[in-house]
Amino acid sequence: MRQRIAVVGGGPGGLAFARVLHRHGHPVAVFERDPAPDARPPGGTLDLHEGLGQLALDKAGLLSEFRALSRPEGQAMRILDTDGTVLRDWRPRPDDRANPEIDRRQLRDLLLGPLDVQWGRAVTQVVPGTRDGVVVHFADGRQETFDLVVGADGAWSRVRPAVSSATPHYTGVTVVETSLDDVDTRAPALARLIGDGSLGVYGVNRALVAQRNSGGHVKVYAQFRAPLDWHTHLDLVDVEAVRASLLALFDGWAARVLDLLRHGTAFVHRPLYVLPVSHTWTHAPGVTLLGDAAHLMPPLGAGANLAMLEGAELAESIAAGEDLDEVVRAFEERMWVRAGRWATITAAGLERLVSPNPAAALALFDEVQPS
Ligand SMILES: Cc1cc2nc3c(=O)[nH]c(=O)nc-3n(C[C@H](O)[C@H](O)[C@H](O)COP(=O)(O)OP(=O)(O)OC[C@H]3O[C@@H](n4cnc5c(N)ncnc54)[C@H](O)[C@@H]3O)c2cc1C
Repeated sequence: MRQRIAVVGGGPGGLAFARVLHRHGHPVAVFERDPAPDARPPGGTLDLHEGLGQLALDKAGLLSEFRALSRPEGQAMRILDTDGTVLRDWRPRPDDRANPEIDRRQLRDLLLGPLDVQWGRAVTQVVPGTRDGVVVHFADGRQETFDLVVGADGAWSRVRPAVSSATPHYTGVTVVETSLDDVDTRAPALARLIGDGSLGVYGVNRALVAQRNSGGHVKVYAQFRAPLDWHTHLDLVDVEAVRASLLALFDGWAARVLDLLRHGTAFVHRPLYVLPVSHTWTHAPGVTLLGDAAHLMPPLGAGANLAMLEGAELAESIAAGEDLDEVVRAFEERMWVRAGRWATITAAGLERLVSPNPAAALALFDEVQPS
């Protein structure tokens, strides 16, 4: 008899898991809290690494479709000093496919394909160890039972408490995100400054990063060290008040850099939280976690990649038909080692990118970027 398998969360990790199972003909229930695919803005562009996110797409049979959609030129990276001087201007070779960018909406639609996601099904609790299996409770009062429940429900996972008491803690760094639309026509000078990929400007304990998405859309991330309650004097939905507060925070930076904030539309507040580095738990039959639910880390280009690869690998092993509990145990051991490595790298990266010493950010760029 086929095992009853559910995944909670329709982010990159949950969808990669479901899509690979679907490819192997294995049924899977996908529960997503959002009422519809476009219920909220999808967030900024993602770079998918050859050995991580792209490998997951390969396992899902979607690599060639990804290649057609993705933007290899988006790998370009320019670093500016706060006075606007260009310090580094790296562009990929035309055949470089190591980390091409893709819009989150495009990636989601690619993974969704034929999947029958159950939208608007917010999970409140997961209870393992009952006589019939693992019981999933929903916000609407319903409940369903499965042999395996995979928690791919992100930072504030409702599945995680079934296996672990860990909760995310604040890193001391906050991001305020804003967006520019039609940048090539509305702000051509800014569009040229940003280039084809990303722009980073690093000052003392603060940074401005801009990333080009497709269709002339740009996401800007103002990053700074601050206590969690830095905004108590501010109404975060008052666009002009937030803009004025950020312009004051970045006071003294070159006018052409601050234009990233002046042209921004809505501002979204994202304090950065992380789970403890090397978060593990005592294996509980019938429940596991992947992606941010298992190892929330600073957003330095790894989280979605890891979530997708974990989802694809777990699905492949399940589809191979071995003992389900053994498959999950082996998956967890492998995930913990790899994610622990990335959590260490990204925690150190955040310390250097938003640091009292801006030279540390430049040095990090020189270490990771081929010359
Ligand atoms: C500003 C920023 C930039 C980033 N850039 C990159 C990058 O370039 N590359 C990269 O690899 N990573 C990047 N990341 C990290 C990446 O976004 C996450 O690591 C990734 O989305 C994690 O995927 P996931 O599937 O585990 O969780 P999520 O993407 O968080 O998806 C979880 C899903 O679960 C649903 N859900 C939540 N609770 C419930 C519930 N109770 N019941 C049902 N459904 C629920 C949510 O609605 C959501 O759809 C970035 C993050 C940020 C904030």
